[in-house]
Amino acid sequence: MHDHRRLGRELDLFDTDRLIGAGLPYWLPDGAVVRHALEEYVREAERRAGYRHVYSPVLGKRELYEISGHWAHYSEDMFPPMELGGEQVVLRPSLCPHHALIYRSRPHSYRELPLRMAELGGMFRAELSGVLGGLTRVRAIQLNDAHVFCTLEQVAGEARAALDLIRRAHRDLGITGARYRLSLPGPGGKYVAAPEKWRRATELLTEVLNASGVEYEAVEGEAAFYGPKIDVQVADGAGRESTLSTVQVDFHQPEQFGLEYTGPDGAKHRPVMVHRAVIGSVERAVAHLIEQHGGAFPAWLAPVQLVVLPVSEAELPHAEQLVARSLEAGLRAELAGPELGSLGARIRQARLVPYQAVLGAREAADGAVALRLRDGRQVPGVSVDGLLARIGAVAAGRWADLWEEGTPPAP
Ligand SMILES: [Zn+2]
Repeated sequence: MHDHRRLGRELDLFDTDRLIGAGLPYWLPDGAVVRHALEEYVREAERRAGYRHVYSPVLGKRELYEISGHWAHYSEDMFPPMELGGEQVVLRPSLCPHHALIYRSRPHSYRELPLRMAELGGMFRAELSGVLGGLTRVRAIQLNDAHVFCTLEQVAGEARAALDLIRRAHRDLGITGARYRLSLPGPGGKYVAAPEKWRRATELLTEVLNASGVEYEAVEGEAAFYGPKIDVQVADGAGRESTLSTVQVDFHQPEQFGLEYTGPDGAKHRPVMVHRAVIGSVERAVAHLIEQHGGAFPAWLAPVQLVVLPVSEAELPHAEQLVARSLEAGLRAELAGPELGSLGARIRQARLVPYQAVLGAREAADGAVALRLRDGRQVPGVSVDGLLARIGAVAAGRWADLWEEGTPPAP
């Protein structure tokens, strides 16, 4: 495992500035490409799984968090409130209360359930400056969050579907070695008191984990303040574990916000909220991807997918043309011309780029390239058309292999 803080700076992915502040990294263009590809992946996967996306503001009135329970159970992690026109507003510590209000803003029938609401939205955590560094402990977080409002009978199915979404995402992202944890309340924690609800939620999640066949460990003291959760844990370079993905069952917030739907009997019923994050925070997910892949991202995530290397000045026009065609085909391509040094030096410089297309006199005359793959394989005399089609297929299919469509690793 690599250290994402060092690699992030070396590869120009992100950085920080004392004047912006600790725990507030900014994203450089190459890092922004990775983040954008990841966010698009998540939105597409969610759309396919029946989620609809919303946007909600990063601020809310203090009263909102008093109702949700964050103020009583979570305020140590929240930023202090701001006085504004005689009111107090706070930077939000989660997206759930906003989503509960969006649900509440319209009447709902049982026919609309399960109603799946997703957002990649900003949230804030008042981390102490001592633990800040890189992308893993940040104060401004972009969260991949979603809430499924459903009936009690639908909870297990929705939690199972969320777990499937998580496993598929880990496979597509090349994340291996994740560990599953059933996070339960422990002694002394700030949990909402409702023993019957905790028992039922724990039962449901246990059932889902057992049915999914994954190995898991039950750990006390790791639950959310409003309910138990399934956490998918990954380790960083120093062996520290953190939660990447999560599925939670919540009876508390629907109660707090008085959420309702009209049942087949014409009466009002209370939905359950299933909270789930496929990649958790975008910051932590990218940090983990940097460490897991050592900067050699899968082709579909790579900041630059194809580098074009003309052997000499004579092939420069052909090289420029290939870059233009690649961009036109939707690929991320760059030119590394002879002014940047010897061919060998340029190849070393581009060692993390999945596809390195060398253009000599013969290739230029044939409309072909001599292709080098990042993993050391060489494919001589590939036609330009064939090259673009293949890279496009690898990226669109999110193949783990750079050239052959193989069987993806088991989830
Ligand atoms: Zn939530």
